[in-house]
Amino acid sequence: MTPEQPEQPAPLRLFTCSPTKLNTWVDCPRRFRFAYVDRPSPPKGPPWAHLSYGTSAHNALRSWWDLPVGTRTPAAAGELVREGWLTDGYRDEDQSTKWRERAAEQVGHYASTLDATAEPVGVERTVGMRSEHLAFSGRVDRIDDRGDHLVVVDYKLGRSVPTDTDARSSMALALYAEATQRTMRRPCRRVELHHVPSGTVAAWEHDDDGVARQLARADAIGAEAQRATAAGDNEDSDADFPPAPGPLCGWCDFRAVCDEGRAAGPARAAWEGLPRV
Ligand code: SF4
Repeated sequence: MTPEQPEQPAPLRLFTCSPTKLNTWVDCPRRFRFAYVDRPSPPKGPPWAHLSYGTSAHNALRSWWDLPVGTRTPAAAGELVREGWLTDGYRDEDQSTKWRERAAEQVGHYASTLDATAEPVGVERTVGMRSEHLAFSGRVDRIDDRGDHLVVVDYKLGRSVPTDTDARSSMALALYAEATQRTMRRPCRRVELHHVPSGTVAAWEHDDDGVARQLARADAIGAEAQRATAAGDNEDSDADFPPAPGPLCGWCDFRAVCDEGRAAGPARAAWEGLPRV
């Protein structure tokens, strides 16, 4: 370097991330620090029933596609839920059993709407890509082959029924679509949210500009989180990872070690996040 050249900051390495990691930064930088920066990570609170419920349903749907075509029946889907049922977080055995049967019925009904003879090109398939700041990877619930294009399918088990607007505005789905297209070298611009309890399908067909906007947004979030992580080994970690207290604090795994989060509202019971029925 000649004396006249201004000193350039060292380039940051690519930020390794998933959609969850990016969204955690957006929701609360302190939570991001607890989950991804601090080692050892602070102890988490007790497990949540709604996560057990969601994971059980996802696992059953994954296994259903592994069955021989002739045995992919709605009843088999329900049975897979029962076999792999996760019991963590429920108030008691009675509540867990009721939800197990409810989930078995929901997953079975959802399976009845599927073409059991189809072969998705991916089930819980990991896709990845790089951008200016990101080394992105994520696991797609299902990638459907619809002839001349692929479709990203994301299962939803939550309380609210997703809309097409949710599918359009989801940064995660747009990143999945782009990563699927690059990983599998086939066009992929359609994303779908399949709400298993109601059978509702919300969908959006992105264009390249829409995907590019979401990718730019993800890049900016990743760069911000990366800068904080690079600077975050000083003593004032709150400056780099400020808390964002709000309604989410009641559901935060790190509420017990966060004064601002505890002040934001009451703790939620481990089963309170189960969908209303
Ligand atoms: S309790 Fe709230 S403020 Fe604290 S880390 Fe969790 S989300 Fe952030």
